[in-house]
Amino acid sequence: LNFVIDLDGVIWRGNSVIQGANKALKLLNKSEHNYLLFTNNSYMTRRALFNKFRNLGLETDYDRIATSAEVLSNKIPAKDAIYVIGGPGLRYELKSSGKYLVGAEIDEENLRPVDWVAVGIDPTFNYRKLEAAMYHILKGAGIIATNSDPTYPVEKAHVIPGAGAILSAVETAGGKKAIVVGKPSRYCARFIKKRLGEVDWVIGDRHSTDGLLAKALGANFAFVASGVSESAQVRPQITSENLFNVLRKLL
Ligand SMILES: [Mg+2]
Repeated sequence: LNFVIDLDGVIWRGNSVIQGANKALKLLNKSEHNYLLFTNNSYMTRRALFNKFRNLGLETDYDRIATSAEVLSNKIPAKDAIYVIGGPGLRYELKSSGKYLVGAEIDEENLRPVDWVAVGIDPTFNYRKLEAAMYHILKGAGIIATNSDPTYPVEKAHVIPGAGAILSAVETAGGKKAIVVGKPSRYCARFIKKRLGEVDWVIGDRHSTDGLLAKALGANFAFVASGVSESAQVRPQITSENLFNVLRKLL
């Protein structure tokens, strides 16, 4: 079987491992089944995510980790000029694939026209960044976003604003809608199929991203209640309290 497994709310919340996640990964690693760990969160680089797995005592391979930042970077032609609102993960994917990143300083004299304003989660987001984004959008730049998740689950029952909250501000100021490439978009579905082939199960804590991604992939959806809680939009084939219990039912 091929699995797509979400990270936030399924493997961990903040820096706390969700119960059973360790056993679940061990079970998968020992099996003949294949999986991709996919997060809509573009803040951390894949390397930093891999280190987080290791530091939390979770066994997996670097090649099994993928993020919405990679999907976004794939979607934009190499050499395009981009103004980024986002963290190191998004910057890294764009830079390492040859894109030209412009700073927040607007210098009309020698500014190359910006093709895209790229938006991901950014804890240092502020009015000045919003102003720069707006400037480029009004000059013709498109908006492309890693995801539009309104919230982001951290420790305990706490949630903080997600990339979608920032994206709303950028879209409002720029007067334009974004292309959103993360789960559950067709770009994301295509990216995942290229990596994994046909997908059997998507396991996640959000109907609006993981559930709809399962639909886009023609896969089953296993909902885990260990992450954000939201009203059900997609009927899951399995509901369970955590990843390990999902796998116990399936394997
Ligand atoms: Mg999640």
